[in-house]
Amino acid sequence: MPNTHLLISWYRRSYRPLPWRQTTDPYLIWISEIILQQTRVNQGNPYYHRFIERFPTVIALASASEADVMMQWQGLGYYSRARNLHKAAQTIVAKYNGQIPETSAELITLSGIGPYTANAVASIAFKEPSPAIDGNVMRVIARYFSADDVINSRGLKKLCDNTVRAMMKDHHPGDVNQALMELGAMICRPTTPLCNECPIQPGCSSFRTGSQAVYPVPAKRAKPKNRYFVYLVLTSNNLSSQDIILKKRTKGDIWQGLYDFPLIETTNVPTDSDVYKSSLWTSLLPDFQPALSHATYLKHQLTHQTLHCWFIRQTADLIPDGIDNAEYLKIPIDLLHHYPFPRLIQRYFDQKQIKSHADN
Ligand code: SF4
Repeated sequence: MPNTHLLISWYRRSYRPLPWRQTTDPYLIWISEIILQQTRVNQGNPYYHRFIERFPTVIALASASEADVMMQWQGLGYYSRARNLHKAAQTIVAKYNGQIPETSAELITLSGIGPYTANAVASIAFKEPSPAIDGNVMRVIARYFSADDVINSRGLKKLCDNTVRAMMKDHHPGDVNQALMELGAMICRPTTPLCNECPIQPGCSSFRTGSQAVYPVPAKRAKPKNRYFVYLVLTSNNLSSQDIILKKRTKGDIWQGLYDFPLIETTNVPTDSDVYKSSLWTSLLPDFQPALSHATYLKHQLTHQTLHCWFIRQTADLIPDGIDNAEYLKIPIDLLHHYPFPRLIQRYFDQKQIKSHADN
């Protein structure tokens, strides 16, 4: 087992003084853990500050509108995290009188909280001896023992759980969890681990055999799926202002609750005739011939999907009847900053120099 004394004293000397490390407030720890789930520390840090400034307590978060929560999350990706935070905050207010539950078993019943987050919050804020096993911790333990189980496998998780639990016997559980995460992030890095600075180097099997690059054993990755989007960016010129048509993304697909544009999705690379024959096009713009060769193309990578996107911008004197309905929304273009957009749509606005952010 790794030497916990050495690990904790290294952590106390070397940890990065990130804001969520200076607190035992479960709300702040919870928010930071959710932000950092799929986001790097440098990118997540400003979002964390903005988020807790806007929603300083669980009650403030619970009483905010979903659009407001999504606005604060805009650009971070994995938007279900924001929706779940909001939902969980409402449950905490309704069921726990606004007090964050203290046990991992209760925390895990809240929306968006899995075993890792439940254990991280319970151990750091409430000293519950619950191992929080993330990718960093798995890498450290897999290398320390030269474990042959593949990353994320049940076998490796079990090994991590048993090891970390044993390490928590005589130490603050939150410190053990955080020290292992920090060691994985800063020293036992995915490539080029800094073994000569590692406090648990004595006893590390991979160091002894020079096999750090072999562990953790990777799982086979599925190839990202290609998707083909043709967006219709429809604007109209009024005398006083320009309008634009947005579409709110609904359940069952990426970006739920965010806004994009009227969309035609095809199963392969689209042709002009795919667009022209689509029901969206025939109902909205039967008199215009689309030309994909003049469209703006953006490729956008998500974890499991590669999006190939064409943006056809069409200006009409009048927005066709029926477009401003439950499905679509017609708004003045200078109010775009009131709506949350996925990163892809922000990229389009940036490229076209369309202002979609509020001035700070
Ligand atoms: S000695 Fe190297 S491989 Fe082993 S745990 Fe430390 S950094 Fe990782």
